[in-house]
Amino acid sequence: MVAILTYLIAPSMSDDTKNPATLLVHAGRNPLDNYGVVNVPPYRASTILFSCLDELEGYDPEHRAPRYGRRSTPSSLAFEDAVAALEGGDRAVVASSGLAAVTTALMAYAEAGGHLLVADTVYGPSRDFCDKVLTRLGVTVEYVDAMIGADIAHKLRPETKAILLESPGSLTFEVQDIPAIARAAHDKGIAVLVDSTWSAGICSKPLELGADVVIHAATKYFVGHADATVGVIVGTREAWQRIKNTALQLGQNVGGDDLYLAMRGLRTLAARMARHQETALAIAHWLKGRDEVQRVLHPAFADCPGHDIWKRDFTGSSGLFTVELKKQPRAAVAALVDGMEQFGMGFSWGFESLILPTDPRKIRTATPWSGTGTLIRLHAGLEDADDLIRDLEKGLNRMKAAQ
Ligand SMILES: *Cc1c(COP(=O)(O)O)cnc(C)c1O
Repeated sequence: MVAILTYLIAPSMSDDTKNPATLLVHAGRNPLDNYGVVNVPPYRASTILFSCLDELEGYDPEHRAPRYGRRSTPSSLAFEDAVAALEGGDRAVVASSGLAAVTTALMAYAEAGGHLLVADTVYGPSRDFCDKVLTRLGVTVEYVDAMIGADIAHKLRPETKAILLESPGSLTFEVQDIPAIARAAHDKGIAVLVDSTWSAGICSKPLELGADVVIHAATKYFVGHADATVGVIVGTREAWQRIKNTALQLGQNVGGDDLYLAMRGLRTLAARMARHQETALAIAHWLKGRDEVQRVLHPAFADCPGHDIWKRDFTGSSGLFTVELKKQPRAAVAALVDGMEQFGMGFSWGFESLILPTDPRKIRTATPWSGTGTLIRLHAGLEDADDLIRDLEKGLNRMKAAQ
């Protein structure tokens, strides 16, 4: 008991360096608080016992003392501390999935009669929540061009409560001008929320760019191994208080075992991200040279919308990008994706390579998709890059043969 309490009072963070590779090895753990055991064990908890009436009645505005499994445990506090340190935020809040993190953050700012601005290229299920739930509760949801930048000032209304961005955008990778948008928003006291799942806390730091809230589908790179869904939200102090309260009111919770997996993923995150970046760039450059390819939608490529912003605001790229092939009939797409040996076909992403035909026309309204080709989203996993390129080469040959 005593050991646990020390941990809770003094969150362990060896954040004497801001280098994510070093920070992530230490963040959120203090072995001396756990009998010298290196990792914070998975705390499985519903009931947490109080030692006396004073403790039961104690007031803890910081939510650091575990009172009940759903409110916080040493596992959730450790993971939240680690991600908050990585993002340079005040505190974090866990949620049961990436989507739950998006919806909880939005609910913290939603009110009947309020207005919400959403980048047109956010993750489809995030849009669905805005369209089907927030509108039913009386929120006006307006989608805007992801490349709107400082012109967002013209969209702000007295009743605008928040702006939801996702940079780069889902499927099509538009890099957004977070500093310009945050300046316009903060002039009016409006919060800026950024889904930064693609960057995984490594490639960009939205809070440093002016955002108030950063949202992660930890399911992707943090967990990293396709074996849990977890979400996490990091905020400034003011944003955190609002979001923590909303998460409690909504009943957000993540079990100790899933938090353990997310925490373990963080230890290797920086090394994995470097490899994902390198392999994705090798594949993207190879694809660019193929005559079946019309365009590569990857922020590191000059023809990706917002490439200059990416150069200014990001320190690198991840493993996820999209290739626009010259228009293909369905049978040719099937010949490509059905015969892959290394690339699996499925949603989300982690250590393995994935291939997924996508169509942004279905999930945008403010800026109709003008591309004429066939879009294939790729995730470069941790396999050998040459093996992956060979797999794609065979796939493109199958595709051509099936035309
Ligand atoms: C996957 C994803 C989510 C949702 O995460 P889940 O854990 O699957 O709910 C949210 N935002 C982005 C950008 C994602 O890629």
